[in-house]
Amino acid sequence: EHFIGRIDKLDGQINSFITRDFDNAIAHAKTADKLRADGDARPLLGVPMAHKDNLCTKGVLTTCGSKMLHNFVSPYNATVVENIASAGFVSLGKLNMDEFAMGSDNEKSYYGAVHNPWDTTRVPGGSSGGSAAAVASGFIPVATGSDTGGSIRQPASFCGVTGIKPTYGRVSRYGMIAYASSLDQAGTFGKTALDCAYLLEPMTGYDNKDATSINRPTDSLVADILAADTTSDKPLAGKKIGVAKAYFGAGLDGEVEKSIRAALAKYEELGAQIVEVDITDPAITLATYYLLAPAEASSNLSRFDGVRFGYRCENPKDLADLYTRSRSEGFGEEVKRRIIMGTYALSAGYFDAYYIKAQKVRRLIVEDFLKAFEKCDIIASPTAPTPAYKLGESLDPASIYLGDVYTIGVNLAGLPALSHPVGMANGLPVGLQLIGKHWAESELLTTAHVYQ
Ligand code: GLN
Repeated sequence: EHFIGRIDKLDGQINSFITRDFDNAIAHAKTADKLRADGDARPLLGVPMAHKDNLCTKGVLTTCGSKMLHNFVSPYNATVVENIASAGFVSLGKLNMDEFAMGSDNEKSYYGAVHNPWDTTRVPGGSSGGSAAAVASGFIPVATGSDTGGSIRQPASFCGVTGIKPTYGRVSRYGMIAYASSLDQAGTFGKTALDCAYLLEPMTGYDNKDATSINRPTDSLVADILAADTTSDKPLAGKKIGVAKAYFGAGLDGEVEKSIRAALAKYEELGAQIVEVDITDPAITLATYYLLAPAEASSNLSRFDGVRFGYRCENPKDLADLYTRSRSEGFGEEVKRRIIMGTYALSAGYFDAYYIKAQKVRRLIVEDFLKAFEKCDIIASPTAPTPAYKLGESLDPASIYLGDVYTIGVNLAGLPALSHPVGMANGLPVGLQLIGKHWAESELLTTAHVYQ
């Protein structure tokens, strides 16, 4: 009731929820109370949370931020939704996002922009802007998100909360509406690394319904964090944190850089050693991502044809008209831009020159990361080059894409990474990104916890 009251009172200013599922939530909370009284010992039983609206929820609207799915009610739950419910969490509803998770400012949602709770004239980041803003506003302690190129980490940075994207294959993608399947991964938001871990731990694990789910034992994230040494002088002694010059180049806001440098100094005080590493030129990584992600998106989004799901145009003349108008009317500008870019990259005449070339560069980006990790345990960088910018600033698409420069390499390489708040730049939060080796979620969360 506390959280529902807060949402009712304040979300008019933030717009973080697309669907409020409060009646069900109250019923689930009452059941949780009863179960608790009867001896159910699940530690997270009854804890409120909410889902990004690209995770399918049985019986509850799943819009993906799009007009295309304005009336779509999934007949099944995504595996992560199922796992989170089994841990006892209570979902309060579905959170706003950029349409089909394409965007960095949450202004690309059919359901209206989300406002940053630190300054409601500014963007919350995206595409999981609703998740980040809801946690920052105290509407829910934790939320799910998804990250294809930074969509958890960048809004976490803009809203001053913690957010983690796990290793590719760690969390099932079954029931998460696909943007770019080889890059998509669900993860969590919380005020702290520990809160992120509480929600992430039950989400992880093998799922035979997702062909890219990896079958390996999952970590005890929460127990690892609680066992971390936070009392000694140098709890991070022996840990090597890699810093790449390429992450401090042109485009990085001066105030953001100051906060990041101060955070690195604090990590040194905690005993970590800062070492220099090389990573792929971020401009190359950016170009690679913005070929591959739209290529996969153009293929994934072909299923929205007005026949099987969601929006259908009025009075189609024939089948071609049905497809064309349903898609023209159902998709927003940014989604159409991605479909066109992706279709172009995949078309017969350009496939080798663009798509295949980008796949080869992707391989080199992975190798560069693995080489960097021979010299360090974790790589640190700014999460985003700037703090949250003004809503309606109408930046051109290419400058918005530039803002993803520090986060997208991680997805191309399938690595885990988090963003945690480290300071303020002109009154707005700044996040530090920590990138780990494959499967190092526990190490990342524990390190951020020691800092926090
Ligand atoms: N901003 C990036 C994009 O628009 C990343 C989005 C995401 O991670 N879903 O593609």
